[in-house]
Amino acid sequence: MKAIYLTGLRQMELRETPTPRLNGANDVLLRVDTLGVCGSDIHYFRQREVGSTVVAYPQILGHELAATVMEIGPEVKNLQPGQRVAVDPLVPCGECDQCRAGRKHTCRQQKFLGYPGQLQGALVEYLAMPAACCSPVPVSLDDDQAAVVEPLSIGVYAAQLAQLAPGARVGIVGSGPIGLCTLLAVRAQTQATVYMTDLVEERLAAARTCGAAWTGDPQREDVVAAIRQLEPLGLDAVFECAGEQDALDQSVQLLKPGGELLVIGIPEVDRICFSSSLLRRNELRITNVRRQNECVEHAIELIASGRVDVGPLVTHHFRLEDTARAFELVSSRSDGVLKAIIRISPEN
Ligand SMILES: [Zn+2]
Ligand SMILES: [Zn+2]
Repeated sequence: MKAIYLTGLRQMELRETPTPRLNGANDVLLRVDTLGVCGSDIHYFRQREVGSTVVAYPQILGHELAATVMEIGPEVKNLQPGQRVAVDPLVPCGECDQCRAGRKHTCRQQKFLGYPGQLQGALVEYLAMPAACCSPVPVSLDDDQAAVVEPLSIGVYAAQLAQLAPGARVGIVGSGPIGLCTLLAVRAQTQATVYMTDLVEERLAAARTCGAAWTGDPQREDVVAAIRQLEPLGLDAVFECAGEQDALDQSVQLLKPGGELLVIGIPEVDRICFSSSLLRRNELRITNVRRQNECVEHAIELIASGRVDVGPLVTHHFRLEDTARAFELVSSRSDGVLKAIIRISPEN
């Protein structure tokens, strides 16, 4: 089968590699149909080290996939060959304290697709995965929508953690795919008024299309002052989806006393800082969001029911052979790119 290997900084190669076999009785063999390029893939494309994780070349990236079940192991009950699925890229151990406590997203022995040192990723034609990681998608979802289920589930999880009251006033700092997925999930959960920022005009336009009440670019205006003018008491919750120190600073300045900062963005540096007086005097709460937990099926329902439209997120399509171009485009944030989708199976 064909696979795309990351072989060095910003270097990718298409290589032939053996098609995986079904090993476990509870596994399924998947044909990968489409794959969304994630911001975290771009970190590994551009940098060899992200936090304490170091890429060992060659590495196959990719974890946002829509797939079709080709074969099932003898113990698999929930899936049939031919079924289309969205995939939760995290394989938990099922036995540690975290798994037992229902926190498989922080499993101590977790293996994540396309994560250096864990599992090879989904930029391949065929992939074996535990059936428990695969959720059927209805025929009404196309392969682009099914590939966006994974990032949407992160927005769904973040919105759940925030426990917003009806009519909440919310900020989302950073309007890339994860910021937009958070917006869609927050709006589906409560009719919150959402203020969004970004440095890219097309992203702000997408935010307005997806239901943001106000958008602003911190390069052009003082976004904290502008939002404060509209919301003098401050915001109930701010989701930081940029992974930048400036964005974290703006986020805490926007919160009202007792407000909650939810940190979703992944900074390229390992240390971030906060104004301790601002945190302490306003008794701000900080919640870190680690991917998602058990939100894939809810994300599928939100799209299938029409309560969430992920259409504005998908901006570009590429063939498997052109994966490096897709990564360069997402890395450059040019041409209005939000989610670039790689069409892997020839049927797509
Ligand atoms: Zn991702
Ligand atoms: Zn575990």
